[in-house]
Amino acid sequence: MSTSKKNFIGIAGILSGFLFTVLVSLQLHLVQRQSIDQDFTAQVKTHARSIQREMELNVEALYSLKGLFDGSEDVTAEEFRLAASTLLFRHGDILSFEWIPLVSHENRALVEAELRQRVPQAVFTEPAPSGGLVEAGSREFYFPSAYVEPIDDRMHHLGFDHAFEPTRRDLLIRSRDNDALSLSSKILMPNQADGVNSVLLTLPIYKGPTTTLGQRRDSFMGAVAAQVDLQQLIRTALDASERWIDSYEILDVTEDDDHTTLLHFGNPERKGAFTQSIRAIGGRSWVMQADIDPEIYLYRQTFMPVLVLVAGTGLFGILAFTLYQSSRQNKLIEAEVIERTHSLDEANKKLSQLSTTDDLTGLQNRRSADNNFRIEWQRHIRDGAKLSVMMIDIDYFKHYNDTYGHLAGDQCLKAVANSLDAEINRPADTIARYGGEEFLAILPNTAEDSETVAERCRSSVERLRIAHERSTISDYVTISIGVATMVPDKTIDMMDLIEMADRALYEAKAQGRNRVCMGS
Ligand code: GH3
Ligand code: MG
Ligand code: MG
Repeated sequence: MSTSKKNFIGIAGILSGFLFTVLVSLQLHLVQRQSIDQDFTAQVKTHARSIQREMELNVEALYSLKGLFDGSEDVTAEEFRLAASTLLFRHGDILSFEWIPLVSHENRALVEAELRQRVPQAVFTEPAPSGGLVEAGSREFYFPSAYVEPIDDRMHHLGFDHAFEPTRRDLLIRSRDNDALSLSSKILMPNQADGVNSVLLTLPIYKGPTTTLGQRRDSFMGAVAAQVDLQQLIRTALDASERWIDSYEILDVTEDDDHTTLLHFGNPERKGAFTQSIRAIGGRSWVMQADIDPEIYLYRQTFMPVLVLVAGTGLFGILAFTLYQSSRQNKLIEAEVIERTHSLDEANKKLSQLSTTDDLTGLQNRRSADNNFRIEWQRHIRDGAKLSVMMIDIDYFKHYNDTYGHLAGDQCLKAVANSLDAEINRPADTIARYGGEEFLAILPNTAEDSETVAERCRSSVERLRIAHERSTISDYVTISIGVATMVPDKTIDMMDLIEMADRALYEAKAQGRNRVCMGS
C-alpha cells in the first residue's frame, strides 16, 4: 500500500475516532439531562398532588361548617363564630369563613335591620367605582355576607353583597342549582389589597328536599363560603419537598380560551416547560406549570461527558501526532533510499565501465581486449616484432541456441571459453570474448606458431564433444578460426590486423567451417 493511502486511512480513522468521542460525550450529556428532567417531572407531579390534597382539606373544613347549618334551623352569629374560629385555627390557608344567605328585595330591609342589631349603621354594600364601599343598589335579590369570621378587622365586610357582579352571583347560583361545591376564579374581598391571591369555595345550604332542581331552588337558604389564600396554600403544600423550581405558576384553565394566572412565583420570564394538571375541584380545572432551576443541571450533572471528551480528544490527538511523525520519518527514509539507489546505480555504472572481465565466461571482455591490443601494437612497433591475432567463431551457434535453448547456449559458450583459455597458455598470450560467440586471441611475438595454436584450439573444442545435431559439418560443436600476423608499423592502422583475421575467419567459414585459415 502506498504511503499516501496509508496516511489517508490513518487520518480518516483518527477523524472518525474523534467524531465518535464527541458523539459519545454528547449522548452521555443528553442522557444525564434527560434523567434530571425525569426527576423534575416527578417532583412537579408530587407538588401538584400536594396542592390538591391541601385544597381537599380546605373543602373538608367547609363541609364541617355546612354541618352546623344542616343540623340547626337557625344558626346564631355566636355559634357561627365558634365553629368558624376553631376551623380557622386548624386551616392556615383559609383567610375567612362567611355565611351568605339569599335575600329577596322584599326582605332586604328586614335583614339589614337584623345586621344593625350587631353592627350599627350596617346596610348592604357594594364596591364603588372610585374605590371603597357604597350602599348596594336595588336588585331582585342579594347575597350579603351575614356572618364573617374573623370579624375583628372585617366589620366593613358585613353586608357586602356578592350579587353585585355576575361572576360571584353565578358562582352561588351554580352552587344552589347543583347542590355541589363551587370554586370561584381569582377573587378579592371588599377593601382587600390587590396582592392577595385568593379563591372562594362555596357550599349550598337548603331547608327542605333537594332532589329536583325546582326543590333545590325553593329550599335554598344561602351558602357557606371559605376564602382560600393561594399563597399560603402553596407554601404549605410545597414546604416539605425538595425544590428544584426556578419558577412556577398555577393557572385556572376552566375557560379554554381564557387561562387566568392564580399565582405566580419565581423567574418572571418563565416558559412553563413542565406542566401538570391538578384534579378539578368545585367545577374548575387548574394546572401547575414549572421550570427547572438551570443551576440544577450544573450541579447534578457529572463530569463524565467532559472527561470522555477530553480523554478521547487527547488519545486521538496523540495518535494523530504519532502518525504525522512516522509519516514524516517514512518520507525521509524514502528520500534517502532513492538517493542511495541513485548513487549505487552510478557506482555500478562506473564499476562496469572499469570492469575488464566478461560476466558469462570469465575471460577478458572486449574493452579489455581492445586496450590490450593497443598496448601490444605499440610495443611491437617499438620492438619490430611479429604480432598474431586469432578471430574465433562458433559454427552454427544460432542453430545450437534454437535447438537446445539459450541457457544451454550459455553453458556451451562457457565450455568453449574454458577450452580455449586452456590452450592459450603462454604468459603473454591473451584470449577475450570479443562478441556474442566470437573470441579474439592476441599472441605477442608469434608468427609461425600461431597456426599450431589455432589448430590446437579448434581440436580442443571438437574434443569437448558437445552434441550439435543441427550442425551440417559435425555431430558436435565446432569452431572456425581466422589467423593474421603482422609486424606493426606506425604507418599501418592497427585495425588492419583485426580485419585481416576477420577476413581469414570468413574464409574458414566459406571453406566449410571447423577449420583454421591463415590471413594474408
Ligand atoms: P556461423 O557458423 O556462420 O557462425 O553461424 P552462426 O549461427 O554461429 O552465426 P550467427 O552470427 O548467425 O549467429 C550467432 C549466434 O550466437 C546468434 C546468437 O543467438 C548467438 N549468441 C551470441 N551471443 C550469445 C550468448 O552470449 N549466449 C548465447 N546462448 N548465444 C549467443
Ligand atoms: Mg558470429
Ligand atoms: Mg558462428
